[in-house]
Amino acid sequence: MAIATINPATGENLKTFAPLGNEEIEASLALAQAAFTQYRKTSFAQRGVWLKAAADILERDKLNFGKLMTLEMGKTLKSAIAETEKCALVCRFYADNGADFLADVPATTDGSKSFIRYQPLGIILAVMPWNFPFWQVFRFAAPALMAGNVGILKHASNVPQCALAIAEIFKEAGLPEGVFQTLLVGADKVKDIVSDVRVKAATLTGSEAAGISLASIAGSQIKKTVLELGGSDPFIVTESADLEAAVATGVIARMINNGQSCVAAKRFIVVDAIADEFERRFVEKFQSLKIGDPMDETTDIGPLATPAILQDLDQLVQSSISQGAKVLIGGQPLSDRPGNFYPPTILTDFPPGTSTETEEFFGPVALLFRVKDIEEAIAKANNIPFGLGASAWTNNEAEAERFIDELEAGAVFINGLVKSDPRLPFGGIKRSGYGRELGIQGIHEFVNIKTVWVK
Ligand code: NDP
Repeated sequence: MAIATINPATGENLKTFAPLGNEEIEASLALAQAAFTQYRKTSFAQRGVWLKAAADILERDKLNFGKLMTLEMGKTLKSAIAETEKCALVCRFYADNGADFLADVPATTDGSKSFIRYQPLGIILAVMPWNFPFWQVFRFAAPALMAGNVGILKHASNVPQCALAIAEIFKEAGLPEGVFQTLLVGADKVKDIVSDVRVKAATLTGSEAAGISLASIAGSQIKKTVLELGGSDPFIVTESADLEAAVATGVIARMINNGQSCVAAKRFIVVDAIADEFERRFVEKFQSLKIGDPMDETTDIGPLATPAILQDLDQLVQSSISQGAKVLIGGQPLSDRPGNFYPPTILTDFPPGTSTETEEFFGPVALLFRVKDIEEAIAKANNIPFGLGASAWTNNEAEAERFIDELEAGAVFINGLVKSDPRLPFGGIKRSGYGRELGIQGIHEFVNIKTVWVK
């Protein structure tokens, strides 16, 4: 895949970048390693100052950063600006809390003194996707840099200007040279980089295939990985739920980022008693969404990021239809315009055994299922290889408790949409990956948890 900025709303190739050669990659790794030997000695207070400076820059230039994201991957400008603000938030969160999260932890043992000390590992490789081109990077970088690690970013090939802008932000914020670098390289270079003895660990957000590849290579080198992969999150609505709120939030939860979010609600599992009414209102809301230029403030749904994403999504839709699923709205790419536009689509009545109903639909397509009761809802929700997030809607406490206890997911949200929050850990189980980002758990992923015992 060429490293290039191609406007997804028009298909126009705006700028192509030459990938770095082996010598340039070597120079970057050497620089990162040299930077680490000094950076690991800096204080939490100093790192916090740098992260807060990065937050200030993000807030100052949020419109420009937002436009860059929209240009490269098609998210609506308003959501891109909000993403920039969230990046500032995560920088401030770790600047304010990192020292406490990483303070020595005393333990009582047979020694005169024993405690746990958290220490940085060194160079961490981040392989990141295009869907939240700033957020995915900052949620890795803020805790990793606060912990004293240095970062190498291999960003998705379709967001090179975002990748370069992020490195510039850290540079302008005053971080020493080499502490955070963007390497414009294709996926073919990841094997060599992660295998390099100076690289100590890696994190990847993206597809299962990419995760399997990176984790296999890292595993063969005994290097730790954190994987945040796909999901097909359930959105369960019971009879006791506030139907109006569930429908309104369900539409937002499915359409976030033009439908291209790992924690978007993808499977709507609704109990029979309210299913007709839910379906009627859901279709109505989908119909009212405005598709168009993502730079336009009034647009709800912009284009998909690349032609390949659109093609993969449409293949899943057509395969579902050919296996007997019914289309309530949408169901065909919009061919009346350039760009990668797919309309809001709802599929339902999947015949038993339809192969696509457990796949991830990475675009504005909702799957709607009817179930008898919450027993069946939980079984349906769990009967999938993924386990990222789950949203359940109920006003019955006993039902809520069952969802919390029985849903197989890294996160359960009751009466709300699944979202990441710097204060809470984020990640999945099953084939959605392992490890956690954000929260106190996120900053503990890439540290040496050193046991100290003194006689
Ligand atoms: P990829 O997983 O291919 O891309 C994500 C990142 O991984 C990019 O930086 C990519 O680089 C890199 N990458 C790709 N293949 C490898 C590899 N073998 N080894 C190491 N790094 C690799 O995602 P796509 O953009 O192709 O999207 C495909 C599907 O992935 C989506 O439909 C969706 O299901 C899922 N996805 C999930 C995301 C999430 O948030 N969990 C985000 C994006 C995608 P390069 O761009 O150079 O290929």
